[in-house]
Amino acid sequence: MAASFDIVVIGGGHAGVEAAHAAARLGADTALVTMNLEAIARMSCNPAIGGLGKGQIVREVDALGGLMGWAIDAVGIQFRLLNRSKGPAVRAPRAQADSGRYSAEVRRLLEETPGLTLLEGTVEEIETRASGRLPEVAGLRLDDGRFFKTRSVIVTVGTFLHGLMHCGPKQTEGGRIGEPASVGLSRCLSDLGLCLARLKTGTPPRVDRESVRFGALAEQRGDEEPVPFSFLTDRIDRPQTCCWITHTNQATHEVIRANLHCAPLYSGQIRARGPRYCPSIEDKVVRFADKAHHHVFLEPEGVDSERIYCNGISTSLPPDVQEAVVHSIAGLEHARILQYGYAIEYDSVPTDQIGASLEVKAIGGLFLAGQINGTSGYEEAAGQGIIAGINAVRRLRGQDSLILRRDQAYIGVMIDDLVTRPPDEPYRMFTSRAEYRMTLRCDNADKRLTHLGRELGLVCDHRWEVFQRTCRQSAEAEQSLTRARIDGVLARDLLRRPETTLADLIKRSPALEALANLDARVLDGVEIAVKYDGYVRRQQRQIERYRSLEDRRIPPGFEFDSVPGLRREAREKLAAIGPGSLGQVARIPGVNPADVAVLWVAMQRAGGAGPGPNSSDSA
Ligand SMILES: Cc1cc2nc3c(=O)[nH]c(=O)nc-3n(C[C@H](O)[C@H](O)[C@H](O)COP(=O)(O)OP(=O)(O)OC[C@H]3O[C@@H](n4cnc5c(N)ncnc54)[C@H](O)[C@@H]3O)c2cc1C
Repeated sequence: MAASFDIVVIGGGHAGVEAAHAAARLGADTALVTMNLEAIARMSCNPAIGGLGKGQIVREVDALGGLMGWAIDAVGIQFRLLNRSKGPAVRAPRAQADSGRYSAEVRRLLEETPGLTLLEGTVEEIETRASGRLPEVAGLRLDDGRFFKTRSVIVTVGTFLHGLMHCGPKQTEGGRIGEPASVGLSRCLSDLGLCLARLKTGTPPRVDRESVRFGALAEQRGDEEPVPFSFLTDRIDRPQTCCWITHTNQATHEVIRANLHCAPLYSGQIRARGPRYCPSIEDKVVRFADKAHHHVFLEPEGVDSERIYCNGISTSLPPDVQEAVVHSIAGLEHARILQYGYAIEYDSVPTDQIGASLEVKAIGGLFLAGQINGTSGYEEAAGQGIIAGINAVRRLRGQDSLILRRDQAYIGVMIDDLVTRPPDEPYRMFTSRAEYRMTLRCDNADKRLTHLGRELGLVCDHRWEVFQRTCRQSAEAEQSLTRARIDGVLARDLLRRPETTLADLIKRSPALEALANLDARVLDGVEIAVKYDGYVRRQQRQIERYRSLEDRRIPPGFEFDSVPGLRREAREKLAAIGPGSLGQVARIPGVNPADVAVLWVAMQRAGGAGPGPNSSDSA
C-alpha cells in the first residue's frame, strides 16, 4: 500500500521548510520530500538574512509563527538594523548567518515539529485524477519508484528545474553548485499543462579567509546592541563577527571589458532574464561605465568557515578571468578562490497561472511557492512558503484561503504583485513596492499579524503570551505619556518633536521613570507610534478609501467576456489574471479606470458586487 499524507511539500529550501512547518503545525499529516536532508534551508548564495524590504518579511513570517526569524537569531554572527537614521518605514534588520548552522538549526526545528515527516528523495512526477471541472492532485512519484498518495502538493524547488549553470563557456546541468538539476519534475509540470519560462541568477566567488589581506581593508562591524528578528528572542549575547569593505577599481574594470566576449551574459550563451537590481559585476561595468569603482563586501560564511563570500562581484566569467578580477582588488591580491562564481538558468512558472492563495488555477490542490514563482531571495521564498502551507491546509478543510492584503503585510504586497502583474524578471522585495510602508513597518509586524496567526492556529501559547505582554506594555507606556507633563507640556506632545527621544523624556520625568523597565522593543514601537501618528492616520484613511474596492469581491469563474462595454485589451487581461476583487482589477496593467467603472456596474447588475468576506479577516 502506498504511504499517504494530507500534504506533501517538494523541496526543503526556504519556501519548503516554512510551508511544511506551517502545514504540520496546523494539524495536517505532512511530508517534506527533498533531494538532500543535509541541504535543508541551504543558503545558495549570500550568507545573510533580512535587509531592506526583506527584513520586514522575516518579521511577518515570525509574527505568523514561522521559522526564519527564530533560526537566524539562533545562529546569526553579525546583526545590523539598516537605515537606523532614516524613517521607521524603511528600517530593517539584517544579519550575517553562519550558513551551515542555519541549515542545521532549521532542520532541528523541523524534526521537532509533530506531524511532519522528512524524507530524502527526488520527485519526478505529480499525478492527478479527473475531478469535476479541474484535475486534482492524487499523488507523487519519486525517481526510485516510491509513490505517495496525497490530495495536496506544494512545489518549492527553487532554481532546480532544468537548472543549467554557466562558468565561462562551461555549462553544467545542476540545481546549484554540486547538486543535480530536477529534470523529470520540470517535464511533468509541462505535461500537466503549465507554461514554463526561463530565468537567470548568479553568485560571486568565495575566497579562502587565510589568503585575504584584511589589514588593508575597512572593517564593517555589527550593532553594539544586536536587534533580534524574532519577537520571541529576548536578546542576542553572542560575540559579533566583523565583515570588511573593499572596492573594484579601473584595473578590475579593464580586465572585465577585455573579456566580455567570453562572458556568457554577453556572448549570447545565457538568454534568460536576470535580476536587474542585482547585476553581475560584468553587467555593472557595462551599464555604469562612468563609475570608477564598485563596493565589494567580504562576508564570512560562518564563524569556523574558511569561506569568505565576495558580495558585489557576482559573475559567470571564466575561472582564469575571475582570478584576474579578484586579484585586482585591494586585500584580495593573493586570495585563493575556493568556489568560482557562476550563473544559473532555470525554469519558473509565470504567475498568471496561480491565484492569490498560491494554488495553480488549473489543477486543484497544486500549490507553488518560492523561486519557482519567479521571485529571488530566501525571505521572499519563506513568505510565500508559509502562505502556501496555510492555504493547502485550509483548502483540505474547505475553508477560505488566507489572502493577506497590501495594507496588511509585505507578503500581501509581494503575492498581489506576482499574481496581478506577473514579473518577467526575478522579483525581489523593496520597500518602494509597498504603497503603505508607514503602516507595514518591521517594528509592528506582530501587531499586524500575530492575532491572525493565533486565529489560524499557528501561534503557540508562548508567542501569544509574549504578544499580549507587548500590547499591555505598549498601552501602559502610551497612557503614561498622555498623563505626564514636563515643563507644563504633555510628554506625548514633546515626543512628537523631531529632536526629542523617549529615552530623554524618561530621564527628565519621574512620572515616566517606570518605563525604563519595559522591553526596549516596546519602547521603540511606542516612540515610533507617537512620533508618526499623523502619517499613520493619514495612511489609514487612504487604506479605508481603497478598502471599499478591495472588498468588492469578484466571484470565481466570472465571465468577463459577457460584460458589455469592456475594451478588448481589458477583457483579455482580466481573463488571463482572473482577479478576485475590484481592487485587484484596478492594479492590472492595461486595465484603466473606465474599465473598472464598467465592470463595477456589470457586477452590480449581476448582483455580485456586495462587499464579500475579506478572506484574511474571516480566517
Ligand atoms: C547561483 C544562485 C545565485 C543566487 N543569487 C541570489 C541573489 O543574488 N539574491 C537573492 O536574493 N537570491 C539569490 N539566489 C536565490 C536564493 O537562493 C533563492 O531565492 C532561495 O533559496 C529560493 O528558495 P526556494 O525555497 O524557492 O528554493 P531553494 O532554496 O533553491 O530550495 C529548493 C529545494 O528543492 C529541492 N528540490 C529541487 N527539486 C527537487 C525534486 N524534484 N525533488 C525533491 N526536492 C527537490 C532542492 O534540493 C532544494 O532543497 C541565488 C540562487 C542561486 C542558486
